[in-house]
Amino acid sequence: MSKFWSSMVKRTVPYIPGEQIDQKDILKLNTNENPYPPSPKVTDAIKTELARGINLYPSPTVEQLRDAIASYNQLAKENVFVGNGSDEVLAFSFMAFFESGKAIRFPTVTYSFYPVYCKLFDIPYEEVPVQRDFSLQVEGFFQSEGGVIFPNPNAPTGVFLSLDDVASIVEQNSEQVVIIDEAYVDFATESAVSLIQTYPNLLVVQTTSKSRSLAGLRIGYALGQPELIEGLTRIKDSFNSYTIDRLAIAGAEASFRDKSYFKETTQKILQTRSWVSDELKQLGFHVIPSQANFIFVTHYKESATYLYQQFKKIGVLVRHFNKHPINNYLRITIGSDQDMKLFLTKAAQVLQ
Ligand code: PMP
Repeated sequence: MSKFWSSMVKRTVPYIPGEQIDQKDILKLNTNENPYPPSPKVTDAIKTELARGINLYPSPTVEQLRDAIASYNQLAKENVFVGNGSDEVLAFSFMAFFESGKAIRFPTVTYSFYPVYCKLFDIPYEEVPVQRDFSLQVEGFFQSEGGVIFPNPNAPTGVFLSLDDVASIVEQNSEQVVIIDEAYVDFATESAVSLIQTYPNLLVVQTTSKSRSLAGLRIGYALGQPELIEGLTRIKDSFNSYTIDRLAIAGAEASFRDKSYFKETTQKILQTRSWVSDELKQLGFHVIPSQANFIFVTHYKESATYLYQQFKKIGVLVRHFNKHPINNYLRITIGSDQDMKLFLTKAAQVLQ
């Protein structure tokens, strides 16, 4: 390999996603998908769009979907950027707002894509240690050199940072962009979207993959003041005029126009999260209080590696991260009540 290419390759550290096994008899609780189907209006809209024909290109500016997302969030279309899953929106955000030579900050325990993007785009970073209970050290994010990013609720812990603390981090970085990755926010108490009109340096990134049951459609979006949105659009236009396909646009738009459906399924998941947390405590697990559609647990007796392997042997997939300080924890997605009853039976079996 020539010197040039080998140095380019050194800049990539591929992200390792959760296992995707297409097998019907697996209890899949490892990648935080929603156990419920999306709103029937979503499937109707996709069918209608398909009948209309997909021989024509989609709208490059995704006007209708941006309108629907804006009106759901009481914002304007100019406050909305749409991408192919929030992973793509995050990648564009790193390119648009963070630069080489200026270190950004994120927590030591966080979404593992951030260091991957830093390496790829040559952005230095500093990790701010989380506290013993996994909550964030708010002051550690003040006065960053190059910007801040963290998920709220955090991933993979589910720990939520109050809006007052989020606001103080945004205020204390007024010259940099602060990105709040709200992939799981619909399962939490409040969103930083209400802060957008106050702070021009705040970008909120959300997704339809979790609460809206549309992980397969790949729609993520960013909300912020028009200047930030324009910055993202410039990056997108340098890559691809049509990032979102017609079927995904139609489906996601229908989801945002249907305000009640996803709230019902979200409510069900919150109820399930609550009773499953109680039951897991009875089985000897320490459960970190979660505001997401997953729970992060460690067992008083058995190691997470052992439990992960035993679960896998009997057809249960949960997530295990082999990284200090979370290597003795498992992340378990909240499925339907039926899924979770089965999971608890299997957990009791493994722990016998
Ligand atoms: N942010 C966080 C914190 C996540 O956990 C995920 C899901 N892996 C994403 C972003 C990306 O979600 P998607 O690309 O499906 O929108």
